[in-house]
Amino acid sequence: MIVAIDGPAASGKGTLAKRLAAHYGLPYLDTGMLYRGVARRMLDAGAPLDDAGAATEFAQAFTPGSDDDERLRGRDMGEAASIVAAHPPVREALLALQRAFARQPGGAVLDGRDIGTVICPDADIKLFITATPEVRAHRRALEFAARGEAVDEAAILAEIRQRDARDAQRAAAPLTMAADAVMLDTSGLDVAGVVAAALAIVEGKLR
Ligand code: C5P
Repeated sequence: MIVAIDGPAASGKGTLAKRLAAHYGLPYLDTGMLYRGVARRMLDAGAPLDDAGAATEFAQAFTPGSDDDERLRGRDMGEAASIVAAHPPVREALLALQRAFARQPGGAVLDGRDIGTVICPDADIKLFITATPEVRAHRRALEFAARGEAVDEAAILAEIRQRDARDAQRAAAPLTMAADAVMLDTSGLDVAGVVAAALAIVEGKLR
């Protein structure tokens, strides 16, 4: 079973994807970490993120694994990843890795922006997880605070809106809901509520 989970930043898709993967005993790939990993390598090398040629070279040379998770999940890296991810050849370079992960025996859970539309258009289950920008900014603020990062919720909200716009308006694999995906708005739900709602959708599809 391939489960594709897409949605904007801080919608709760990562938490849900991990819980669904554990529930069904499937491997999980957070595809945002690939773009974050490419961005991190570029920043470390002093390469400009908007240089498509350089970004492509870094993406082609990219192998996941040797990253400091905390640094990749940091606030600046999400923004940097979004700039890098807008270059079509960067997406092309990371495609095979994602498809191979999805097509392993037994299936997998992947989350990102284009899993149901581009990476796994034939996924058995497609969920589009969303929440209002305000709710997402609040969740991000709590996460950053828990990690000891400085928190300005209004600034985080502005960043989220900017990243949504860049991800949704880019020409290559923009953030959009697949026609056959089921939307789940997590704004008024806690984690248990989101998981229960998603499991009901999955079980309904499997029946
Ligand atoms: O999901 P996460 O916040 O880690 O993603 C960081 C950025 O990577 C996103 O804002 C988006 O621009 C990009 N991304 C993407 N396609 C994916 C996953 C992430 O373009 N499948």
